[in-house]
Amino acid sequence: MSRSIFRLALHWQILAALILGAGAGLLIPDVVTSVDFMGDLFLKGLRMVIVPLIMTSIICGVAGLGGGDGVGRLGGKTLIYYTMSSLLAIVTGLVLVNLTQPGVGVDLGLADQPDRLASSMDRFGDSPWSALVRLLLDLVPSNPIAAMAEGNMLQIIVFALLFGTFITRLPEAQREPLEAFFSSSFAVMMKVTHFILAFAPLGIFALVGRTVARTGLDVFAGLGLYALTVFLGLLIHAGVTLPLLLRSVGQLHPILHAKAMSPALLTAFSTSSSSATLPLTLDSLENRAGVSNRVTSFVAPLGATVNMDGTALYECVAALFIAQAYGVELTILQQGLVVVTALLASIGAAGIPMAGLVMISVILTAVGLPLEGVGLILAVDRVLDMCRTTVNVWSDSCGAAVIARSEGEEGLVSLKS
Ligand code: ASP
Repeated sequence: MSRSIFRLALHWQILAALILGAGAGLLIPDVVTSVDFMGDLFLKGLRMVIVPLIMTSIICGVAGLGGGDGVGRLGGKTLIYYTMSSLLAIVTGLVLVNLTQPGVGVDLGLADQPDRLASSMDRFGDSPWSALVRLLLDLVPSNPIAAMAEGNMLQIIVFALLFGTFITRLPEAQREPLEAFFSSSFAVMMKVTHFILAFAPLGIFALVGRTVARTGLDVFAGLGLYALTVFLGLLIHAGVTLPLLLRSVGQLHPILHAKAMSPALLTAFSTSSSSATLPLTLDSLENRAGVSNRVTSFVAPLGATVNMDGTALYECVAALFIAQAYGVELTILQQGLVVVTALLASIGAAGIPMAGLVMISVILTAVGLPLEGVGLILAVDRVLDMCRTTVNVWSDSCGAAVIARSEGEEGLVSLKS
């Protein structure tokens, strides 16, 4: 378990930092602004460890699986979980947004902000098919060193998976030193990570304080029916659907599992970034939730990049909200298209703040809605980003636990324990 610079357990410290940060941001914004470098320092520290941590973690994990069959089986289960949980999230959003109809009658005083987003939208192409092709092409790095330098998560994962897999095909004399090297490297990266995590409370205090100091209570002012719908959907998915999955499929205790994951969940909420949270996700899964390194190192890094239930749900609600605001009645077929593209958009979204907002363009284009619609939802995006990122990380952790159970692992937070 991560120790921290104070005595209280890390998750309580993070929670206290969150609350104190919000209070300080409101009451003494100038003071908070003058120490906001602490937030940047913490984020830089997390980013510093991500690439070597993922590389060594995946290579060790995959090499430990013993190559072909093990990787294939785990990969298959992971893929099924990612797809199923994201689809369940999207359908929850779809049903809710059709019930609450938050976009009906919304005033279309559209802002000019979407210009800012337009350039980043271009690269996602203009149809679901081209988005899919782009996703596939983006998987393979033409230069793995460049992928590492740029921190391109998916490409790093693909390269590490191949590297780890083929270590197992080497003769023993070549295999053993490599395995020893990577498992020692992984161990040292975990130690560096623990060291950085000890500063999480200070970093999070500054990050939350800065957000509140900059936006004040406006963060919550724009919260209309739309934001409530997203929030409710996220709550149902995280609080009902995923716990049911944990209980029924994994025979696991949802509350204890959530408690074990709390440092990661609170950090996801504060940073709005699944990728930045990844070191804590790995740590909480292995050292608090009892999931083996073998499963964690495969499921969590991949999940931080491609499995985003919260984002998927949000994409669906946002697209339908925009359609409603424009008075466009989407047919069942078009809503089906929204479901599929929301899934693709959530896979394609990077684990960084506001990535999901940019990806909405993929859906809007697919169903022929004007891209300017994104301007409608900008105001409340920050706070929704915090919530959906938490759900993204929660889903990754549930996936890892359920898959670990299906692999016969003991030591998880079982129902009977
Ligand atoms: N911020 C989210 C994440 O990192 C992605 C999104 O914008 O939906 O998981």
